[in-house]
Amino acid sequence: MGYLIRDCQRCGKSHVQMQIKGFATQDDLNYEMFMVCNACGRGSIYQGQPKGNFADDRDLETGRSIRDSPVQIYPEIPKLSDDIPARTRDLFRQAATCLRYGLSEPAGAMFRKTIDVGTKEFYSNNERLKDKQPANALRSRLKALGDMKVLDEDIVELADIAALDGNDATHDEDPYTTKEAEALEELTIDLLDRLFVRPATIARVRAKQIASGLRKADTAGESDGV
Ligand SMILES: [Zn+2]
Repeated sequence: MGYLIRDCQRCGKSHVQMQIKGFATQDDLNYEMFMVCNACGRGSIYQGQPKGNFADDRDLETGRSIRDSPVQIYPEIPKLSDDIPARTRDLFRQAATCLRYGLSEPAGAMFRKTIDVGTKEFYSNNERLKDKQPANALRSRLKALGDMKVLDEDIVELADIAALDGNDATHDEDPYTTKEAEALEELTIDLLDRLFVRPATIARVRAKQIASGLRKADTAGESDGV
């Protein structure tokens, strides 16, 4: 049976022989090979271009190219726009990663933190708000944004639902389910879009219109809300 010599990432043993137990073909040249470590008996998947016959007792690498490291699988998370501040994006990435690893409770708590930090950053980035002190409590902060007409009522409502739901994940004794965390992720994306992405897109289009003479500069800046 074909084998490879690799450092096993399952048990940590270096330079160990791994036997091929199965494979998948990607095209005429490329394979994914399921290799089992002689030391620990656990499997890893390696990509490469071995010769097709795996039954012979031979080093699969001889004269061929096979990756040094096994395939690592990272969950794919929704990509957020660069218009959203980096710290908020980072919190969202952590929350979304937890969700995809089946950790719904930390996911829920982290989505809430994303909304919390995101609204604080919205305060500090917004011309009309930068000299104002945001409320400490998230829901009061959201309400204030609505009262000052910085945010439309429907967005305040959306954010309040998300804040309350994330609060549940943080404090409630009942289990916070994957479905709940998934719904909160959608709400969080929607809110960040309304807070940061749409205003930035509008600002870019407006600047372009001014530059091309379609719009007069003095009509700009009317609606820096959302
Ligand atoms: Zn091993």
